[in-house]
Amino acid sequence: MLTDYNSALRLVLKYSGGIGTEVVNIEDSLGLFLAKDLSAISDLPRFTSSAVDSYGVKIADLINANDENPAALKLVGEIKAGDSSKIKIHRGECLRILTGAPIPSGIDAVVMKEFTKKEGITIFFYTSPKLGDNFRYKGEEFRKGKMILPKYTQISPSVVGLLTSLGIKKIRVFKKPRVAVLVTGNELVEIGKKLKFGQIYDSNFYTLSSSLRQMDIDAINLGIAKDNKAELLKKIRLGLKKSDLLLVSGGISVGEYDYVQGIFDKLKIKKIFWRIAIKPGKPTYFGVKGKKLIFGLPGNPVASLLIFNQIVKPAIRKMMGENKHQPIILCAKLDEELKKRSGRLELVRGLLTANSRNEIVVTPTKGQGSHMLSGMADANCLIHFPVEALILKKGSNVKVELMK
Ligand code: AMP
Ligand code: MG
Repeated sequence: MLTDYNSALRLVLKYSGGIGTEVVNIEDSLGLFLAKDLSAISDLPRFTSSAVDSYGVKIADLINANDENPAALKLVGEIKAGDSSKIKIHRGECLRILTGAPIPSGIDAVVMKEFTKKEGITIFFYTSPKLGDNFRYKGEEFRKGKMILPKYTQISPSVVGLLTSLGIKKIRVFKKPRVAVLVTGNELVEIGKKLKFGQIYDSNFYTLSSSLRQMDIDAINLGIAKDNKAELLKKIRLGLKKSDLLLVSGGISVGEYDYVQGIFDKLKIKKIFWRIAIKPGKPTYFGVKGKKLIFGLPGNPVASLLIFNQIVKPAIRKMMGENKHQPIILCAKLDEELKKRSGRLELVRGLLTANSRNEIVVTPTKGQGSHMLSGMADANCLIHFPVEALILKKGSNVKVELMK
């Protein structure tokens, strides 16, 4: 029995749990998820400052100023960003004030330079400003104590900036899982070595480990195992010991030499599902042992990478603290007719572009075979060709999922 794609994803997420929290330096926090709600430890901005390089005034001096009737004020000083001067002005006076400079009390507006003219120490104002014009007010973004970043927020560069602007140096985050990768197959040879006829280079370790790298996870490399029960048992046992999540590529299908599932059973891994109604990627296996997750990925290079993206990555992100899996789904106009047999959801590799009318158009890439990585390399999205559909007509609107 095949498990449908949505159920497979739901099951995987159900079994993916957090593996504890730790405190990290802000500079090491990018991509991690906050392990607790974060409230502002001060107002932001901390003080009222000028938003422009210009002149600070008392609005009472400029009540009737306009293009025909400028008001003249005497320039009595300057405040730059970083100054802590408490300089005071009196009626009839103004102050040069630069962007980011704290606004001294007694100044109630900053007038844009475009509405002024300077003659020596006299400044002519051709406008009548309102209270607080061009001010950045203390606490206008948020007040001290306000919850600003909820638990489970992923730390992006802007979150890093927000935390540092509050003066925060360290932050509690969820830990990343340890992920081990084993590739299996008698035909596989490591890059750098010479191939004999019938052999191929192992690419799955590299697609998987570089996908993990994108998540800032260093794969634990368990090497290449031959299709040999003793060797598989040894390496899978080691992988289970060393990791929170184990990926085994190849040997999970129904061939005579596909021993991997037998080894999983022997190691008392509880099978949650085997085989998904998806193309490519049907032979995918998922099991658990305690809190550890075990995936048997298809050996075909496109299938293994695609199942990593669609099934394994959401699991890792959940372990890392993501509380909602949110793939980016769009609707696009299909550029070419697609046909298939029913029974499986087909994820067709596609390239999204905008046409001259700014409509989003998707074109299936060349090389759709599950052994053809070029078709994946040229793609930026997956076209969802639904289970029961047999044809997607050229020009029809189809569901596409962005590959991030
Ligand atoms: P399997 O799932 O072991 O039956 O393998 C399916 C196909 O994927 C076969 O053509 C294998 O040669 C190929 N394959 C398996 N593992 C890898 C790998 N690590 N790198 C590249 N191709 C692989
Ligand atoms: Mg094999």
